[in-house]
Amino acid sequence: MPTLVPAGRSQASLWFQACPTMTKYITRLNERRDVAEGTMAFFLEKPPGLQFKAGQYMNFTLIDPPETDAEGNTRSFSIASAPFEADLAVATRMRDTAFKRVFRTLSLKSEVRISGPFGSFTLQSDASRPAVFLVGGIGITPFRSMILQAAKDNLAHKLYLFYSNRRPEDAAFLDELQNVEKHNPNYKFIGTMTDLPKSKRPWQGETGYITHEMLRKWIRDLNAPIYYTAGPPGMVAAMRQMLTTSGIDDDDIRTEEFTGY
Ligand SMILES: Cc1cc2nc3c(=O)[nH]c(=O)nc-3n(C[C@H](O)[C@H](O)[C@H](O)COP(=O)(O)OP(=O)(O)OC[C@H]3O[C@@H](n4cnc5c(N)ncnc54)[C@H](O)[C@@H]3O)c2cc1C
Repeated sequence: MPTLVPAGRSQASLWFQACPTMTKYITRLNERRDVAEGTMAFFLEKPPGLQFKAGQYMNFTLIDPPETDAEGNTRSFSIASAPFEADLAVATRMRDTAFKRVFRTLSLKSEVRISGPFGSFTLQSDASRPAVFLVGGIGITPFRSMILQAAKDNLAHKLYLFYSNRRPEDAAFLDELQNVEKHNPNYKFIGTMTDLPKSKRPWQGETGYITHEMLRKWIRDLNAPIYYTAGPPGMVAAMRQMLTTSGIDDDDIRTEEFTGY
């Protein structure tokens, strides 16, 4: 039976009012744009009543897509927008899979089913310890949310973002994440590029992989912070190993694997 939506009321708000205790929503795609080469951000209407913590993720389901494959019509994405922002944003590497072919061509205002939020990959409440974010590529999504929200809330936490990409062209949200330094004196951006000769953009920051030596250059006491890393399993494993061989206690390492990469 078709659902009737009164003028001025979105399907998303009606769905939420009908099921206030459920964590499933129908929302709409508002906008999408490239945020790096091969990486696209999608901005969806934030359903009224949806509350999440910076760092959490949701499941996104395409409704009756024109094509599908063995992986199905649902993907998990970390929420890249901060809770205070108007839209619900995600960002993803645009690989040639059925889900992403449909997502990148979906008409604006199309409905998308979402559920969540899920996960406990969120900033520690203890502001006396620095938080160090070790990030490669698309793993930036939960950290963009945490970093923007911390700036908005004037949090006292010292935050260090180590952000590794092959080239500046590949680094999603690069300028924005650098600019947050102007608004939050407790935040330090440390970008590093691993394949700079292939870049056409100027770069003044670090080069090469995130290593023990790079951490020591920027952090006086390596045992003081809580370390966070997210992204494809290979990147997360490499960062965990680097931290472990640097003598960091397992209890001080928090990870989120983007399974599917
Ligand atoms: C908690 C969580 C948070 C996540 N957050 C994000 C996020 O913020 N952004 C994000 O992009 N992803 C995120 N992911 C991963 C996301 O859910 C997808 O799995 C991922 O984007 C891959 O989807 P896909 O459609 O490209 O590939 P799928 O169709 O899901 O691919 C399935 C399998 O095929 C292989 N495959 C497909 N295409 C290729 C290719 N071109 N080259 C090599 N192998 C290939 C993959 O190895 C994979 O195992 C998250 C996952 C989890 C669990």
